Amino acid sequence: MPVPACQTCHDLITAERDAESVHDYSRATDCRVLLRRHHTHGHQTPPDQNP
Ligand SMILES: [Zn+2]
Repeated sequence: MPVPACQTCHDLITAERDAESVHDYSRATDCRVLLRRHHTHGHQTPPDQNP
């Protein structure tokens, strides 16, 4: 899975992988829910990430 430009997506995906690596599946599920909610509420690339 590619690392997204969006910092929020990146943080949530990292946290999900982290949780799965320690078999904390309830935390991983939380991260997936938060990621979906983040997308629903308008995922955007922060303006300060322009080159
Ligand atoms: Zn995002």
